[in-house]
Amino acid sequence: MIPAPFDYAAPESLDEAIAALGQGGEDAKPLAGGHSLLPLMKLRLAFPTLLVDLRRVPGLTGIERENGSFRVGAMTTHHQVATGGLGLASAAAATIADQQVRNRGTIGGSLAHGDAASDMPAVLLACEGEVTARGSGGERTIAASELFQDYLTTALAPDEVLTEVRIPAMEGYGFAYEKFNRRVEDWAMVAVCALVKRAGDGSCEDVRVGLTHMGSTPLRATMVEEALRGGGLDADAVGRAAEQAAEGTSPPADLNATADYKRHLARVLTRRALETASKA
Ligand SMILES: Cc1cc2nc3c(=O)[nH]c(=O)nc-3n(C[C@H](O)[C@H](O)[C@H](O)COP(=O)(O)OP(=O)(O)OC[C@H]3O[C@@H](n4cnc5c(N)ncnc54)[C@H](O)[C@@H]3O)c2cc1C
Repeated sequence: MIPAPFDYAAPESLDEAIAALGQGGEDAKPLAGGHSLLPLMKLRLAFPTLLVDLRRVPGLTGIERENGSFRVGAMTTHHQVATGGLGLASAAAATIADQQVRNRGTIGGSLAHGDAASDMPAVLLACEGEVTARGSGGERTIAASELFQDYLTTALAPDEVLTEVRIPAMEGYGFAYEKFNRRVEDWAMVAVCALVKRAGDGSCEDVRVGLTHMGSTPLRATMVEEALRGGGLDADAVGRAAEQAAEGTSPPADLNATADYKRHLARVLTRRALETASKA
């Protein structure tokens, strides 16, 4: 439970942080809330030789509404997102762990960590959001669909700091977040987020379904979406579409659930999430 030795830097500007990460190379890691990185280090599953603490870097926290999106600073905590009036993103952030974790863990840390069992990645994917990253090569935006590449692997380069998350406000969409776990504050065995927009005649104008912990990255349930888009949203249509929620997924079996049980959960949670989102 004691990490391997490491150096620590607490830069006071983003440029200094990027320079420190560049000097540290592949073995340097940004430190945000520390609630994923430090447990991995204590278990000796991660061995960074340098931690670059982002907490003194100005301009990385806060939530602003701009042009139909929420701009969320990477160091904004889960608690701030949960209480920030961001619709689906707030609903999902409120389910993360307990209040202590939500007070320290950050949205940027969660997305940069790239754990398919985390709650925020599938939400960003379903909302078709993006992140901004800055490194020695300059600034770039990365769409959620490009960010998550594999288990704990993202498109971020080692010297890049994720600075901002842009989440479309999804105006006119009903939303729901369904998370299944053994104890209230646990990670998701499976979670499903749904966003539904009805047309004037009540039919489904648009629908998004995001899946958590159903593969090595967060996923969209595209077959469910295709089955519903442009059609009715009655109980039969939703139930039939939800039956396809596990198509194309490869959920990891673990101590909590077999892969088959997770597929079952995905179907049930998708139906529930769609029912709630289409009533809102
Ligand atoms: C007991 C417990 C229960 C939890 N339950 C849940 C849960 O139910 N759902 C859930 O989603 N999460 C859960 N978490 C994880 C929690 O949400 C973490 O806060 C989050 O995954 C990581 O955020 P962090 O700010 O702590 O990042 P850190 O641990 O500091 O960093 C995580 C990784 O991201 C990198 N990183 C961090 N910030 C940046 C940045 N700005 N730019 C580039 N790279 C960066 C780090 O180098 C590291 O590799 C739990 C954690 C604990 C300890």
